[in-house]
Amino acid sequence: MKAGAHDLDRFDRMKRIAWLDMQKIHASRCLVVGAGALGNEAVKCMVLAGFEDITIIDMDDIAVSNLSRCVFFREVDGKGTMKADILARRASELDHEVNITPIVSKVQELEKWDYDVILGCLDNISARLHVNSHAMFNNIPYIDGATDGFRGKVQVIIPDGPCLECTMNKSHMKVLDTRFSCTGNGMMFVPKTASEITTTSIIAAAQVREAMKLLSGRADLCISNVMYYNGETGIMENLEIAIDPECPNHTMKE
Ligand SMILES: [Zn+2]
Repeated sequence: MKAGAHDLDRFDRMKRIAWLDMQKIHASRCLVVGAGALGNEAVKCMVLAGFEDITIIDMDDIAVSNLSRCVFFREVDGKGTMKADILARRASELDHEVNITPIVSKVQELEKWDYDVILGCLDNISARLHVNSHAMFNNIPYIDGATDGFRGKVQVIIPDGPCLECTMNKSHMKVLDTRFSCTGNGMMFVPKTASEITTTSIIAAAQVREAMKLLSGRADLCISNVMYYNGETGIMENLEIAIDPECPNHTMKE
């Protein structure tokens, strides 16, 4: 091979990681739920890492307050400019091989669940639980990310393993109940969570990394089951969880 030929292959440096299955990554169909801060960072990593078939679902338009954390949004993107559309269009510029499909909708309205992996880049529990139960029912691995200021977590949910709902404690359920039981139009005031880009980057990158392991057939390398990140101390800790025998997502499948 001629000197410098390796530099003509976009993925040459990734191919040097022996266990990484680039063909599987290229061929995978991935769903990213949420096109906000985590979604921007996740899609950036996915496109750079060779994911070529990405669907992004999000119902919101861009706000000025998104600009501190969303690499693909611009000041010219005003109200009425949809996050999923802009993220799909701008991220596509990174690699002409990538095919990104935006869906402007609530995830609760998504009808087809035929993906190889799902990344949850969401900001609320009810949407997470919706994705979790559909992922479990359709045997799709689901990698959920969450941040709160300088803290964050990633949970890897593999079919037949413990799911997001298994980890839900009563206080989570109380928040959910409040949402469901609130005034007529289903809207209530939920305080915005603190968020900044460095923690967002770390959590979204970790989500994509777990997807790369799963697609490469290396579930054995994955976080089991939840990784907690504390950006104030720089410490990451993994916590194993068990299947909750009361969790409906496991009995449902039998
Ligand atoms: Zn469960």
